[in-house]
Amino acid sequence: MNSDNKKYELKNLSPKELEKLFAGWGEPAFRSKQLFNWMYNNLASDFSEMLNFSKALRNRLAEECELISLKLESVQSSSNSGTKKFLFSTKDNNKIETVLIPDKNRNTLCISTQAGCPLDCKFCATGLMGFIRNLTTAEIIDQYILAAKNCGENGITNIVYMGMGEPLINFDDSVKSLEIFTHEYNIGLSRRKITLSTSGIPHRIKELAERGLRIKLALSLHSCFEDIRSKIMPINKKYSLAENIDAIKYYTDKTKTRITYEYTMLKGINDRPEDIDALVKLCRKIPSKINLIPFNSIAHMAPGGISAGLEPTPLNKIEKFAEELSKHKITVILRNTQGSDIAAACGQLAGKDNSQL
Ligand code: SAH
Ligand code: SF4
Repeated sequence: MNSDNKKYELKNLSPKELEKLFAGWGEPAFRSKQLFNWMYNNLASDFSEMLNFSKALRNRLAEECELISLKLESVQSSSNSGTKKFLFSTKDNNKIETVLIPDKNRNTLCISTQAGCPLDCKFCATGLMGFIRNLTTAEIIDQYILAAKNCGENGITNIVYMGMGEPLINFDDSVKSLEIFTHEYNIGLSRRKITLSTSGIPHRIKELAERGLRIKLALSLHSCFEDIRSKIMPINKKYSLAENIDAIKYYTDKTKTRITYEYTMLKGINDRPEDIDALVKLCRKIPSKINLIPFNSIAHMAPGGISAGLEPTPLNKIEKFAEELSKHKITVILRNTQGSDIAAACGQLAGKDNSQL
């Protein structure tokens, strides 16, 4: 038990902390490596599976430690793509969502870092639901563990921090989960397979660069114009795009990675000729690529205010927009809207079972 007389949530502990816990129990260091292996590589869901541990150790673990922090409530599968949406509940009964997106030989898992989100972006269902709380490291990692058990033999090949919440606001737990995912004991998930998406918290972007994880970073850009960006992303009033670009330059220099700009296409707001010019100018500054995302409907949230008036740019116009950018030698990826039939596409997550949609 920890000092509050509660069970240790094992996935909240870094490999060093696991070692310390075991050392206190008189167990050698290699046992903590074995435990890491059981949890993260073998996806163990019960201590009784850990057969290379003595019965006494398994019993002590079961008495004093918690292995799994989330409960899987439901899995919905999209009928027009292989996308699956997992609905989990936390111990305090908050609902969070995780999306598995299969694509050829890849299985990408989109994980959440908060229940809800405090940033209130006008186009995002998670933003519209408001903020409940940060997720713990264990809750972030368990989305991966429980989804991996349900995803067939290829396993999860990529992780994107693009589910519910702003990972850089839940900085400590997001970073700890990244440290565990990319730890040398772990098999299969290199830093190149992990992308963290942020709406832009400049000092945290710089701090992330300092941590030496060198994972890929995506900035939710959506407009190159400060005033327009502030209208659709209120956080821009606190942390301007200019400050974020400066932080991103720092990140790409330090980590030798390329930034991805995410750009959700909103009719009449960011799909104009001047938006193309501004994007071209921006992309010349920093090694980058652009991910164009069709705006996914948030009608299931019955939005009001600016949100109610948002409309998607028609697909043929998005394709034209992409073509124009490519002419300027910019790498553009047009993301499809996999999973929109089960409200599992970008920005549609709101902790609800959408089987009634
Ligand atoms: N909070 C982080 C990560 C989660 S959002 C961030 O904002 O980057 C993941 C991505 O989905 C972001 O790029 C976000 O801007 C985008 N998004 C949000 N709502 C959307 C919607 N309704 N349609 C399409 N993309 C959306
Ligand atoms: Fe939060 Fe990202 Fe949604 Fe904005 S887009 S409200 S930052 S989850």
